[in-house]
Amino acid sequence: MASTITMAENGKLIIPDDPIIPIIPGDGVGPDIWKASQPVFDAAVAKAYGGTKKIEWLPIDAGETCWKNTGEFVPEASMEAITKYRVALKGPLSTPVGKGFRSVNVLLRRLFDLYACIRPVSHVPGVPSPVKDPDAVNMVIFRENTEDLYAGIEWDAGTPEAAKVIALIKELTGRELGPDTSIGIKPISEKGTKRLVRMAIQYAIDHKLPSVTLVHKGNIMKFTEGGFRRWGYECAAEEFGDVTITEEEVGKLGGKVPDGKIVIKDRITDSMFQQILLRPREYSVLAMPNLNGDYMSDALAAQVGGLGMAPGSNVGDGYAIFEATHGTAPKYTNLDKINPGSLLLSGALMFEYMGWNEAANLVRKGIAGAVAAKTVTYDLARQMDGATEVACSAFGRAICEHM
Ligand code: NAP
Repeated sequence: MASTITMAENGKLIIPDDPIIPIIPGDGVGPDIWKASQPVFDAAVAKAYGGTKKIEWLPIDAGETCWKNTGEFVPEASMEAITKYRVALKGPLSTPVGKGFRSVNVLLRRLFDLYACIRPVSHVPGVPSPVKDPDAVNMVIFRENTEDLYAGIEWDAGTPEAAKVIALIKELTGRELGPDTSIGIKPISEKGTKRLVRMAIQYAIDHKLPSVTLVHKGNIMKFTEGGFRRWGYECAAEEFGDVTITEEEVGKLGGKVPDGKIVIKDRITDSMFQQILLRPREYSVLAMPNLNGDYMSDALAAQVGGLGMAPGSNVGDGYAIFEATHGTAPKYTNLDKINPGSLLLSGALMFEYMGWNEAANLVRKGIAGAVAAKTVTYDLARQMDGATEVACSAFGRAICEHM
């Protein structure tokens, strides 16, 4: 009988050898990529641990298809499963544009307070990329997941609520906004910033990475994005003073970083979009507020070949959901065509989170081998000379063969 992941008193998860992991295959191409990925995960675990470890996958429902079948976007049973088992994997979920529909992704993040969206971005050699040196990119973005303009506090133009806020703004600032103005609020807090930056610095320590860069628009938005910068530096100094050093302090030492110290830098967001293209080797871990972090994540993913190969995770204290970062690509539903790479690499991240690094490495090795052999799905094949295009499921089998 399989076991349950539990949390110790110190907040760390205790991972049994036979954990139950809920999986939401998702909408659109989700079931296809899950069917291709499950055998890869199981083969990696079997090969890494010779039968001493095994995952019991627990399929649970959520999303638009679930809503059409049951009238609920996230049924109670699915909520209970994630609450009980703590670590889950998910495919893409569709978010129809329209009134009254809450994004299931956003809902899950909020319900489990998954405050960090973590996206490691590095290049799998051989994957076509639009830049000259994609291997120079090796960054991990920690994007704040609960605050900022994405907190969902906004009012449509012409509503009584918008009129009240417009009146309040006039009273507080003297600024006149027209009655045809929609309003959105941008909350960024000390607590929300510090818990994100804390996780980012801890990650840099655990993975022996050289720097953490706070990316912000504090030059314009002094108190929100500027607060993110200030609280980020405070967190580094107050909680990690013995292992961190600021770039300014490094300058005073003639540019030499003392052994074992992680450099805390900060960059203005627009400049950072240039830096990731022009000087990617100078950056390692990035900590960012929600909205700009969203843009940066996709821009960086594009540099290494696009969302088809970009893994993602949403992590809080004691809960984590690992997910494919692309959408449901509805036109490819049930065609067994799409690239399962994003879900596979997200699963590898999940293994790492569980401390199953050997299984994570085998998944990555299998993908690298299949790509090097040019046995790939359509999206990669159309950009590679001499590639053999295979179906989603066949790509999964090729990955198993290359482990
Ligand atoms: P999308 O589903 O990501 O697909 C856009 C295009 O990206 C596809 O047509 C395909 O390009 C390419 N693509 C995406 N995934 C791929 C993969 N695994 N392998 C190869 N190519 C891939 O974006 P969308 O059409 O904007 O969104 C569709 C739905 O997904 C929406 O309802 C949206 O809300 C939802 N969504 C969900 C999530 C999530 O659950 N995390 C994230 C984003 C969007 P080609 O046509 O060139 O082949």
